[in-house]
Amino acid sequence: MDIAAIKKELRSILGAEKVLTEDLDLMYYSYDSSFLTKLEPKNPYAVVFPKSTEDVQKVMRFAYQNDIPIIPRGAGTGETGGCIAMDGGIVFDLSTWDDIVEIDAPNMQVIVRPGIIHAKLNEQLAQQNLFFPPDPGSSQMCTVGGMVANNASGLRAVKYGCTEQYILGLEVVLPNGEVIMTGGMKAKCIKNVSGLNLTKLMVGSEGVLGIVTQIRLRVWPKPKARGIAMAVFDRLDDAPAAVLDTYQAGILPSGIEILDSSAIEAVNGFKPEINLPEAEAILLFEVDGNPPSVDYEGQVIKEVVGKRARTIEWSTEPQRMAQLWEGRSITATAAARVRKDGSRIFAGEDISVPLSRVADTLRAIRALGDKYGIKVVNYGHIGDGNVHTAPVINPEIPEEVERVMKLVDEIHLLAIELQGSTTGEHGVGAVRRPYAQLEHGKAVEYMQGVKKVFDDKGIMNPGKLF
Ligand SMILES: Cc1cc2nc3c(=O)[nH]c(=O)nc-3n(C[C@H](O)[C@H](O)[C@H](O)COP(=O)(O)OP(=O)(O)OC[C@H]3O[C@@H](n4cnc5c(N)ncnc54)[C@H](O)[C@@H]3O)c2cc1C
Repeated sequence: MDIAAIKKELRSILGAEKVLTEDLDLMYYSYDSSFLTKLEPKNPYAVVFPKSTEDVQKVMRFAYQNDIPIIPRGAGTGETGGCIAMDGGIVFDLSTWDDIVEIDAPNMQVIVRPGIIHAKLNEQLAQQNLFFPPDPGSSQMCTVGGMVANNASGLRAVKYGCTEQYILGLEVVLPNGEVIMTGGMKAKCIKNVSGLNLTKLMVGSEGVLGIVTQIRLRVWPKPKARGIAMAVFDRLDDAPAAVLDTYQAGILPSGIEILDSSAIEAVNGFKPEINLPEAEAILLFEVDGNPPSVDYEGQVIKEVVGKRARTIEWSTEPQRMAQLWEGRSITATAAARVRKDGSRIFAGEDISVPLSRVADTLRAIRALGDKYGIKVVNYGHIGDGNVHTAPVINPEIPEEVERVMKLVDEIHLLAIELQGSTTGEHGVGAVRRPYAQLEHGKAVEYMQGVKKVFDDKGIMNPGKLF
């Protein structure tokens, strides 16, 4: 079927108001937040805005009958080209289908449509002293559907885990238009071990199995108190060692973040008034819970971490906590400003390594930056070994782009070499596909087999994952 005919048919299936077909409109769907799609943007044939499960089914059936690729999209904040039509196709923009169907507080769960923005959901839940704990840095922008597809998490994953731990059930439309409910057709229970766990399979499947149209999420009581500790280290190796000491002292903070010397320099360069101490590393510990337990845990952290740190400060006072945290909160922005003619690129930005290898990883990335003559700013979620690296280049200079791509490749290989993963948060998408075999070996064949069961024609988000 030619593209003009596809556009015409989509308008007749959904109505013209739910379909975009003009080149200028399609251009906005040619990239996400990844560097790859900035380099090589790709327009889809058309974009549709479904507002019901039936809308999704109707377009899926049409695409299935005509072998047209289907690409689900939330807010497009993904860093891996996951929501991009790599070789044409129909993009399903789910961001406007954002209802909260039900906040079922007595059963500690909520049912939402895929387009709800994470922060907006948490605003509503807060009114009932509840929250959905995973906390991506993109909270104000990303959709919960996108979080499910990418199994997103954030700096509090160290205590609260990733999205997968909160998904109780999903409604999914498969490429042939069939609808399945995972986690029980009518279930409202929290514990459920019946059947093969298709919910877990769908979470993190990056849109290659079907379109998630409804999500049943577990919610938690919102913690009442919070405290922050900032510790400054003269030796990089003392930072991960202090994290381990904290765990061994029986404390599980809600977040443990690291800024290495490159990030400290970037923050001070961008906002000198923050004036972070010069050091090999700064750690920020966040503790949450009930006031007495927060106070107790803060005191233990002070004592245990204080044995290795040059200085440590603990506070539960809101204004001081915000000051202590400010350096971390602007690190990503500061990274982009370390070079006047440069910008931070999102590539190789998300590796995950064992806790015991964090210091080695940071040292190795510094060495790789030197090898390729590229400034790299390092920070991240040290509590679970998720390191964020921010290479800064001038993307207008092709030779620099070529160099940074080699650097990024080495960063990915380094992660696998150190018994880690190419991605701790942002997913595989189109960007990390080349590493699938190296990371998973024979298991990739079984992954492909599973995909075939759901997507026999291979039309669901092609060019992603493997
Ligand atoms: C500034 C910034 C900070 C970030 N910080 C974090 C962070 O701390 N932690 C983290 O995990 N990520 C982070 N990200 C990455 C990104 O925000 C997350 O992966 C997020 O979950 C993507 O949501 P989205 O709605 O933008 O999805 P999109 O980018 O639109 O799509 C992402 C993937 O999900 C699929 N998809 C989307 N909706 C559906 C659906 N309904 N059904 C099936 N498949 C679907 C798409 O096909 C694609 O493969 C950050 C991104 C930015 C720009």
